Amino acid sequence: MRCPYCNGPSNRVIDSRTHANDTAIRRRRACDGCGQRFTTSERVEYANLIVHKRNGTTQAFDPEQIRSGMAKACTELELDDDHLRMATGKVVAKVRSAHRQSVTSAEIGDYVLEALREISPVAWLRFASVYQKFTSTQDFQRALAELTPEQHLQTNDVQP
Ligand SMILES: [Zn+2]
Repeated sequence: MRCPYCNGPSNRVIDSRTHANDTAIRRRRACDGCGQRFTTSERVEYANLIVHKRNGTTQAFDPEQIRSGMAKACTELELDDDHLRMATGKVVAKVRSAHRQSVTSAEIGDYVLEALREISPVAWLRFASVYQKFTSTQDFQRALAELTPEQHLQTNDVQP
C-alpha cells in the first residue's frame, strides 16, 4: 500500500476500526515519508459465485438477498436480530462451503428453509408458501405434516 500523497512505500497503522456492518475494517495510516495520513479499507474477498435461477437467468450471489428474504419471512414474529443474523450466516456458509463456482436458486431456497425451520415454524411456512408457490390449502397441510413432532407439539398445545 503506497502513500497516495508521495507514493512512498512505507507507512504505519495508527488506528483500526471495524465498520458498523462488520464486513470491513478501516485502518488509519501515517506515511513514514511525508507524514500525511490516509485511510484504507479492508474487506473479505469472495470468489465470484454464480446463481442459476429457475427462469434460466444467472446472477452473482448476494448474501444481502438471503438476509432480506429471511427477514421478510420473519416480519412481526419478534425474533431476535441475532437469531436472524446467525440463521443468515448459516445459509451463506452452506452455499459457500461447497467451493463451487455456481449454485442453483433451488439449493439456496432449501438451505433457507432449513435455517428458518430451526428458528420459527411460522417463518418457515411463510417462506415455503412463497418459494414453493403454494396454491391450495392442501399445500399448507402437506408442508405442516413435514414439521418435526416437537414442533407439532407446540402447535397442538394451544388447543384446549
Ligand atoms: Zn507520503
